[in-house]
Amino acid sequence: MLSIYNTLTRTKQPFKPLHEGRVGMYVCGPTVYGDGHLGHARPAITFDILYRYLTHLGYKVRYVRNITDVGHLEHDADEGEDKIAKKARLEQLEPMEVVQHYLIRYHKAMDALGVLPPSIEPHASGHIIEQIEYIKKILDSGYAYVSEGSVYFDVPKFNRDHRYGKLSGRNIDELYSTTRTLDGQSEKRNPADFALWKKASPEHIMHWPSPWSEGFPGWHLECSTMGEKYLGETFDIHGGGMDLMFPHHECEIAQSVAHNGHETVRYWMHNNMITINGKKMGKSLGNFITLDEFFNGTHPLLTQAYSPMTIRFFILQAHYRGTVDFSNEALQAAETALKRMTEGYRRLQELTPSETSTISVEGLRERCYEAMDDDLNTPVLIGVLFDALRLVNQVKDGKATATQEQIDYLKDLFQTFLIDILGIRTEMGGGEGTGDAMKPFEGAVDLLLDVRAQAKSAKDWATSDLIRDRLAALGFTVKDTRDGAEWSI
Ligand code: ZN
Repeated sequence: MLSIYNTLTRTKQPFKPLHEGRVGMYVCGPTVYGDGHLGHARPAITFDILYRYLTHLGYKVRYVRNITDVGHLEHDADEGEDKIAKKARLEQLEPMEVVQHYLIRYHKAMDALGVLPPSIEPHASGHIIEQIEYIKKILDSGYAYVSEGSVYFDVPKFNRDHRYGKLSGRNIDELYSTTRTLDGQSEKRNPADFALWKKASPEHIMHWPSPWSEGFPGWHLECSTMGEKYLGETFDIHGGGMDLMFPHHECEIAQSVAHNGHETVRYWMHNNMITINGKKMGKSLGNFITLDEFFNGTHPLLTQAYSPMTIRFFILQAHYRGTVDFSNEALQAAETALKRMTEGYRRLQELTPSETSTISVEGLRERCYEAMDDDLNTPVLIGVLFDALRLVNQVKDGKATATQEQIDYLKDLFQTFLIDILGIRTEMGGGEGTGDAMKPFEGAVDLLLDVRAQAKSAKDWATSDLIRDRLAALGFTVKDTRDGAEWSI
């Protein structure tokens, strides 16, 4: 049975969905003001694994991942201006043109990383009416107040009746003293109060009419509103990066309790952060690397390009609650490990069965499920797959034998856990459009190797070497084995 670590209770809990056979899951999506970077890749991949695994277990999953596109102040922003608006002003674009441009690029990068699209991808800008209605109800409940055209959530009042800070474990007195003085703070009764609606300043180009002012919704509000709209007043899983736990998710809890009188989310899940060479990633630190820069190796910190699958595999080699440190050395090690894995997967397809067997595949499948059931322990799962791979290589190298039944078992194991659940695309069979489309190409390479084998047996070394060298120049590795030659790219 699947157990997941619930950030709210700080324990691993058996996962029982609210409705039998169905799971509602919400993950905070990207703010589309720039190119996708590693910070986008980790939550997307983490919750893609959860989505894939729940689906594999037979649940009908409704996966909602929002698009933050109304333009908000980012709490860790390098510059303080609303980024979509600023970019639009500088480039004389319609704000939605900026959103569309980056959204297309984000989707492309996610697709390259093997991240499945969610069931619903709602835009904050498309749910202004719902957000206004949501604010009205919080005002009615008495946990918000209007101040100079803006609406603020009354944190001290909420904290007297409920507890603010339960998710992040923060103490409210601490919050009063550590909240930075930001623009517009004088409108607030308390520095810890947060905006539900902000009156737009004249230079703010994204704004909508509301009962309080021409303005825009606070950032935390879109997730409470759209989560409830698509998944209901109570739903199973809410995920996101650990950096969103406070204030974003804490504010979401406060909003939904003020709105509904009870909490909305049953399991909170947070993936840990990534670092680059041991340092936090940030534009001001010069180590902000976009996904495209990883894929084509153009950032000065990178010694080579890394394929999207290498990035995915590298992220999955760590448990999602652990940190991941990106460095060229670590990525190269992941690249080598992934190559061994996909190469083994290819060799598995070529195994010849024997009447008798000298290997045991017993318990491999159970160990895979055990790893995934233990809070999505992908590094342990990858370890089990490497154990299985050792058997494949022993049989392929003629050091052991396997029956047809065992070969089928192994094929099914890799198809389920490597391809379907870990979402690794291999050169053959994995992902869409690679299998059949590659067949003529693979046949042509095999033909060349057959010609080379004939040349070798005729002691025509010049032809044999020519084929090997030209293939090597094109990036093929040719390995001579007992039953002929094998190639890989
Ligand atoms: Zn969110």
